Amino acid sequence: MLLEHLGNKLQAIAAQSLTRVLRVAETAAAPLQQVRSADGQSRELLMFCSNDYLGLADHPQLADAMVEGVRLYGAGSGASHLISGHSRAHDELEHALAAWVAPEIPNAQALFFCTGYMANLAVLSALGDAGAEIFSEALNHASLIDGIKLSKASVQRYAHGDVAALEALLRASRSRIKLIVTDAVFSMDGDLARLPELLACAQAHDAWLIVDDAHGFGVLGPQGRGTLAHFQLRSERLILIGTLGKAAGVAGAFVAAHPTITQYLLQAARPYIFTTAAPPALAHALLRSLALMASDEGEARRAHLLRLQARLRLGVAALLAAHPALPWQLLASDTPIQPLVVGDNATVMRLSAQLEQLGLRVPGIRPPTVPAGTARLRITLCASHSEADIDRLLQALASVVAEQQSETLIEQGIA
Ligand SMILES: *Cc1c(COP(=O)(O)O)cnc(C)c1O
Repeated sequence: MLLEHLGNKLQAIAAQSLTRVLRVAETAAAPLQQVRSADGQSRELLMFCSNDYLGLADHPQLADAMVEGVRLYGAGSGASHLISGHSRAHDELEHALAAWVAPEIPNAQALFFCTGYMANLAVLSALGDAGAEIFSEALNHASLIDGIKLSKASVQRYAHGDVAALEALLRASRSRIKLIVTDAVFSMDGDLARLPELLACAQAHDAWLIVDDAHGFGVLGPQGRGTLAHFQLRSERLILIGTLGKAAGVAGAFVAAHPTITQYLLQAARPYIFTTAAPPALAHALLRSLALMASDEGEARRAHLLRLQARLRLGVAALLAAHPALPWQLLASDTPIQPLVVGDNATVMRLSAQLEQLGLRVPGIRPPTVPAGTARLRITLCASHSEADIDRLLQALASVVAEQQSETLIEQGIA
């Protein structure tokens, strides 16, 4: 019965062309990666889909630090943090992260988590008591939404970027505990939350602002200190979640907040308490990663990334200007997430497949991940890309546009 039921569901997914398939990365995360697809074919692709924004995932210094960490602490942690798995490396990392956010969150403490997904479940399920009210931005990441589902709080959703709507909800709220929750950089759009205004709202209405900086940490702000630093925010009302598997190039996540909040999470956050601590070697490598991100090398990588973003945006703007009938839109974005909205699902999947034929991997993103009618190529850039890589992407886009146009002309009987 179960197998039949699931088989039917799989068929329904396939009928909508929404089946997801795994590919096997046969080499390290880097712009040029050897990838084996479901049909068993292996080929080298130029990747525009990784979140390794600073190109640190295959950095030799991080590989060395990981090896050193394994030599010092062994392969595994052996237990959860509160039993015996909390190593000196974890402790040092938590202190380094607290110092990292100190200019934005005075007196903060930090807790290290195995993943950002778990950190978000932890914060929302532990702080979202019965009687609390959560105000959630419409484009929040799935892990925040799942965390909200695990909480006992009541939930209000506000439209993307609509601070006035949030303000009205806060004004009407009777709850003693109010939690505003938002991504800092929206993962499918690349734009930034209006954090200064959200923080002002939080202050005016005795609410707390929970910020998920998965895509800003390491990328934005001085020394890559993240989106809070980018906006020069400073408040004890901020609760920050940062992930360490994206720009930081390793794995894991942290929550930084007022010590009373982190102390409470330590007592109550089930995704922290009931899981084996991540290998200490990860924490050891992450200490090196923080140092790299804040170093001159980190600064140079961020400067290069900005040049790549500008080059891509100029090139796409020129392409769209040359084809005014093309209903495509490059979303406004100052981050390495550069979405090119093309509209319908079939078109985006065809474009993505055509680009792959040309040796480039640019994933198509469809509903329900994005609103209907806004299917897009989600282009992400990394500091490890070269300017020539960007030019190759621009040339490939130009050639798929030309192909599409000649097909349209043939359909219309013009050619
Ligand atoms: C990737 C991501 C997460 C999850 O982090 P992981 O460490 O990959 O589990 C959480 N929030 C946002 C906005 C993300 O993009």
